[in-house]
Amino acid sequence: MDFELNKTQKDIQKAVRDFTKGEFDKDLALELEKNHEFPKKIWQKAGEIGLIGVHFPEEYSGQGLGSLEDILVIEELCRGDSTIGSAVALSSFASELVLHYGTDEMKENFLPQVAEGKMLSAGAFTEPDHGSDITFMNTTAVKDGDEWVVNGVKTFITNGGLAGFYSVMCQTDPDAKPTYRGISLILVEADREGVSTMDVGNKMGIHMMSTTEVALKDVRVPLSNLIGEEGKGFYHVLHFFDESRIQVAAQALGIAQGAYDRAMDYVKKREQFGKKIAQFQVTQHKLADMATKLELSRLITYKAAWNFDQGRIDPKLTSMAKMYAARSAVEIADEAIQLLGGYGYMTEYEVERFYRDAKITEIYEGTKEIQKNTIASAIIGKLK
Ligand SMILES: Cc1cc2nc3c(=O)[nH]c(=O)nc-3n(C[C@H](O)[C@H](O)[C@H](O)COP(=O)(O)OP(=O)(O)OC[C@H]3O[C@@H](n4cnc5c(N)ncnc54)[C@H](O)[C@@H]3O)c2cc1C
Repeated sequence: MDFELNKTQKDIQKAVRDFTKGEFDKDLALELEKNHEFPKKIWQKAGEIGLIGVHFPEEYSGQGLGSLEDILVIEELCRGDSTIGSAVALSSFASELVLHYGTDEMKENFLPQVAEGKMLSAGAFTEPDHGSDITFMNTTAVKDGDEWVVNGVKTFITNGGLAGFYSVMCQTDPDAKPTYRGISLILVEADREGVSTMDVGNKMGIHMMSTTEVALKDVRVPLSNLIGEEGKGFYHVLHFFDESRIQVAAQALGIAQGAYDRAMDYVKKREQFGKKIAQFQVTQHKLADMATKLELSRLITYKAAWNFDQGRIDPKLTSMAKMYAARSAVEIADEAIQLLGGYGYMTEYEVERFYRDAKITEIYEGTKEIQKNTIASAIIGKLK
């Protein structure tokens, strides 16, 4: 057993740290957050210096590295700034579906653009009537000659309206039993006729990311836009969750670390009753609890990524990492606000934003209750 990061991994961490120190600016973050604006220039720079899609092969403008290196990048981005970091980290959301199941042509057409910070990607699974339960889709894709005709409405789609393409879960066989065996993944380019998006409305956090409804009305795409195998879309997405849930765990870990850093800095400066507040034992205990949660989140998130890179698929471990890191992030950011007192509640001191940004990690890519279902079914097994 070896808990040390190797030289490449440490170099990546340092490169992202240097990038966030140089490019992330508190005033800019507050401005972008206020305007609900995607951090376009920072995302483009991140792409230019190779911080997006480090786990893509080099032929698709990646670095040919693994999930562990990918999540090290995500952690550091979100540590630098919870909102800018999340937006940059999720700029390539769901592009792994194309990476693992797409045709060579799809990979060539889309992955380099995503990795180079020229195109955003999106995964469209959720529908108004199908959130946690994606075993049946109301969105349909029907073959007509050499095309698919896609109809339906997706909701809560990250990067909606900005993305260059959507990986869409569609029911291609409505009579399949069980229903999930009739689901396929179809790549829909954003500029196809019949694709329209609408913002879902104000949200609690991650204000720099767009979250939209995506309506697909008689959208025609070639049959070759099928991602993976027909009828296997549900399984492809479950496999994707084994990787993406670790990414969300890393997002949570980075946000938690960022909130902790800011709280630590503050308690060493702020004085009350003639002492630094870091001298009160109750403050020290809070910091000890926060540091312990961070350590555990990091251990399980890195382990899940390392495991994935070994080719071992363990949804239980992935769900544990996402559930634990996400809960810890909410708790750590909450405690960070408390440690800053009234200032913690103020936008300018950032930690309230970290707290709002942390919460989504308990909801998307499967809620914490869904993670518990996955863990429970793995540890209990089939009951006779
Ligand atoms: C900001 C944001 C961005 C998102 N981005 C994307 C995206 O890019 N692509 C995409 O496809 N989706 C996206 N989503 C959707 C997200 O994945 C879903 O919101 C989430 O999976 C939950 O689905 P739901 O909202 O329909 O809640 P529901 O499924 O209706 O759940 C409501 C509550 O019931 C609980 N529940 C449901 N089923 C069970 C069960 N079997 N056992 C125990 N409890 C259960 C849930 O845990 C939850 O607490 C995003 C959502 C948000 C808010």
